Amino acid sequence: MNDQLDNLAIHTITNKPWSAEQCIAKYAAANVSAITFWRYNFEGTDPTTLGRQAKDAGLDVASLARGGFFPAASALKRQAAIEENLRAIDEAAALGAPSLVLVCGAYAGQSLDDSRLQIQDGIAACIDHAQQAGVVLAVEPLHPMYAESRSAINSMSQANKLCEALGNHPSIGIACDVYHTWWDPCLETQITRAAESGNLAAYHICDWITPTSDLLNDRALMGEGCIDLGKLSSAIKESGFNGYHEVEIFSNRWWASDQDDYLSAIIQSFRKI
Ligand code: ZN
Repeated sequence: MNDQLDNLAIHTITNKPWSAEQCIAKYAAANVSAITFWRYNFEGTDPTTLGRQAKDAGLDVASLARGGFFPAASALKRQAAIEENLRAIDEAAALGAPSLVLVCGAYAGQSLDDSRLQIQDGIAACIDHAQQAGVVLAVEPLHPMYAESRSAINSMSQANKLCEALGNHPSIGIACDVYHTWWDPCLETQITRAAESGNLAAYHICDWITPTSDLLNDRALMGEGCIDLGKLSSAIKESGFNGYHEVEIFSNRWWASDQDDYLSAIIQSFRKI
């Protein structure tokens, strides 16, 4: 195993044109250490089988993406969201993933404060089940441009507050994604705060390019954009976090390219950080 890739994980969505089985084979052959699956990967295969295939290939399962989307207009819909998250927790456990990433959700018909309360209530309703399953619920703060639609949790500070409101439960954590948090002047302080509370559960990397042509699917490869990844990765390391650096890139541009060449480019840029 190449030492430099010991803490490299890749999300299957990064190589969306590949099947889960192709991702497993290609990442293992490239000496990547771990893989994060997305729930769409279970369309053809069950989580238990996929988790076993990854382990047999020598890959650790870093996480499962994703649960969340708790806020909704009615109690009935919020209950349905909770039940969906309980299923996702079971899938993470079957997969052998230590955490489930939460894109917490938001409902445009109400205030952000109301959405945040519903997120807290939704997580509280799932947390004992997560603990029994041995799965950490990793709250991923999303960039404020998604506050109305995808998540009312938009900064590491808010994620820290949410964990504290839930009593820093052992099954709650935070996924810090540089795409969503790089702009925040308090980012490094908040990374330290999360780590000191034992809540830093995941670290996602990519880059931000300008102009961004698509608010969801125009993320960049590390080194292409303006995020100071060297500085952030140092802050993550100094915080005591020793988990994977997970490459998660939604990119129409890269998805349209040759995926083998793209994987080589990912590994090259990871080595440069
Ligand atoms: Zn992420």
